[in-house]
Amino acid sequence: MEGDRGGMTLFLASRGLAFLTAPGGYLLLGLLNYSQSGKSAALVVFALLATGAWGVGHPPSRRRRGTGWEILVAAPFFILLAIQAFLRDYFGVAHNDEIVVEALFNTNGGETTEFLLHNSRGIAKHFALLVLFLLLYGLLLRMGNRILPSTGPVVSRGEGERPAGNHARLRPLFLPLLFLALFLLLHLNPTMRQDDPLLYFPLRYLEWSREVEETRKLQVKLNADDTDPEMASIRYEGEGPRTVVLALGESTTRLNWSLYGYPRRTNPELSALGKELVRFDDVVTGYAGTSGSLRLLLTPADLSHPDLWETKPDLLAMARKAGYRTFWISNNGGRTGLPSVFASHADATDFTNLGGSHSEGSYDNALLDPFRKALSDPAPRKFILLHMLGAHPVFHFRYPMEFSRFDGADDNVSREMKREGRSFWAMRQRDEYDNAMLYVDHLLRATIESCRERKGEAIAWLFTPDHGEDVAHYTDFVGHNPRVRAMWEVPLLFWRSKAFIAGEVLPEAVTRRPAQTDTLDHTLLGLLAIRGAFYDPRRDLLSHAFEPAKRSLAGIPYP
Ligand SMILES: [Zn+2]
Repeated sequence: MEGDRGGMTLFLASRGLAFLTAPGGYLLLGLLNYSQSGKSAALVVFALLATGAWGVGHPPSRRRRGTGWEILVAAPFFILLAIQAFLRDYFGVAHNDEIVVEALFNTNGGETTEFLLHNSRGIAKHFALLVLFLLLYGLLLRMGNRILPSTGPVVSRGEGERPAGNHARLRPLFLPLLFLALFLLLHLNPTMRQDDPLLYFPLRYLEWSREVEETRKLQVKLNADDTDPEMASIRYEGEGPRTVVLALGESTTRLNWSLYGYPRRTNPELSALGKELVRFDDVVTGYAGTSGSLRLLLTPADLSHPDLWETKPDLLAMARKAGYRTFWISNNGGRTGLPSVFASHADATDFTNLGGSHSEGSYDNALLDPFRKALSDPAPRKFILLHMLGAHPVFHFRYPMEFSRFDGADDNVSREMKREGRSFWAMRQRDEYDNAMLYVDHLLRATIESCRERKGEAIAWLFTPDHGEDVAHYTDFVGHNPRVRAMWEVPLLFWRSKAFIAGEVLPEAVTRRPAQTDTLDHTLLGLLAIRGAFYDPRRDLLSHAFEPAKRSLAGIPYP
C-alpha cells in the first residue's frame, strides 16, 4: 500500500507539473495572461492524467510506451498555446479576437503564404519555444518514470503475486476513466471548451459564420431605413454650429458610484466638477443586455414598440440627414453584430480595441486620441458616439495597475459584505469592479476635459451605460443578472460648454425626472436640435413638454 501511494503521488506530480512547461513558461515570459495559461493548463493536465493513468500499475516498459502517447496528446495543446502566444506577442491580439477569427476563415492561399513569409521571424521564435517546451515536458515524464519503478505499485506487489480479486482488476481502468471524466467535465465551461485544440477551429468557425450571416441579414434589413418616408420630415432647427457627444458605457451600475452615494470614493474626478456636471437621479435602462439596450436607445424603438429598430432609421442616420457629420468610435468590439450596423451608418468609424472584448483588450483611454481628432473636425455640426468597454467582465482587464485602489480594502463596503457572508471570491470581484468604476470616472473626466479644450464651441456631452451589473450586491453572484435592480439602475450624466444653449429647461432643475433609456433618443434629438416625425418632446428630459412614461424592468413595473 505504501508503495502504491508513493507511486501514485509521483505519477500525479509528474503530470501535474506539466503546467510548469508550456502554460507556465509562456506566463512567466509574459507572452500569455494567466486566464489563457490557466485554462490551457487545466485542460492539458487532465488530458495527460487520463492518458498517463493507463500505465499506472503496469511494468515500466508499458509506461515508457505510454510516454510517447502522452507527448502526442500534449502536442496539440502546446501548439495552440504557441499560436496564442505568437498572436499576442506580435499583434497584441487575443486568439478569440474577431480580427483573428476573421483572418482565419476569410482568407485565401496567397494571403496565408504572404502572412507566413512576412512574419517568419516571429513564427521561428515561437516554433523554437514550442519545441523547447515539448522537450522539457518529455524530460519531466522520463524522470518521473525512472523514479517510479523503485517505489511503484508493481514492485510493491511482489513478483509472481496474483492480483487480489476484482479490486485490482478494476483499478487500471478506473483511474484513466476518472481523469477522462474530469477532463470532459471541464468542457461544461464554454470558455474552457473553446481552448480545447480539437474544438478550437470548428467552434470558432460555427460562431463566425453565424455572426457574418446575422450581420448580413441585419444590414440588408436596416439599409431600407434611408428610404423611410418619415425621413423627409427630419430638419435641423438649431442656430450655428454644435457638437453632441454620447458616451456609451458598459456594465456600469450607479449603485457603485460615489456620485450616487456609494461609500467607496469611486468618482473623485467627476465629483470634482461640482455643479458643472448634471447628475440625473432616477434613470433605469430599457434592457439588461448590450444589443437589446442599444437598439432601444439609438432608434425610435421603445418598450411599447420594441420592434421599430428593424424598420426605422437610427440616430446616426437621422443626424446625417440633418446635416451632421457622425462619428462612431468604439473600444467595445463591434465589427460584427448590431453595433457594427449602427457604426456602418456613421461617416467616420474608429475601432480601437484590437484585443477580444471579453478577455484582454485595450483600456478605454484608447478612445481619447480618435475622440480629440473627431472634436477638431472642421464640420460645423458633429455627433460623436463613444462606445466604451467600461466594466465589461472580466473586470481586472479593464483598468491599468494604478487604478487597483480597492484590492483587499478594509472599509464599510468590505465589512458589510463580510457581515452578509459573501465569499472571498465575490468580494474580490467587487474590489476589481470598483477599480474599474474608478477608471471609468477617470476616463469620463478626460473626455469632458477634451471638450473643455475646445474654447468657445457649443458642445453637449451625455453619458449613460447600456445597462448595470450585479457584483455580489445580493448574493455571491457576479455578472449579468436581469432579476436585480443593480442591473437596471444606471447613471445618466450631462455636461455642456458655456456656448451650448441647453434648450427649454435648465438641466439642473430637472434632475429628479424619472427616465428609462429606451426613450433617450428623444433627449438626444432634442440636444441635436433635430425635429420631425421621430422627435417627441414629451420624452425629451430637457423639454418643457416632458411627461414621465410608465417604466418596467423585463415586464415588471418599476416605480
Ligand atoms: Zn453590455
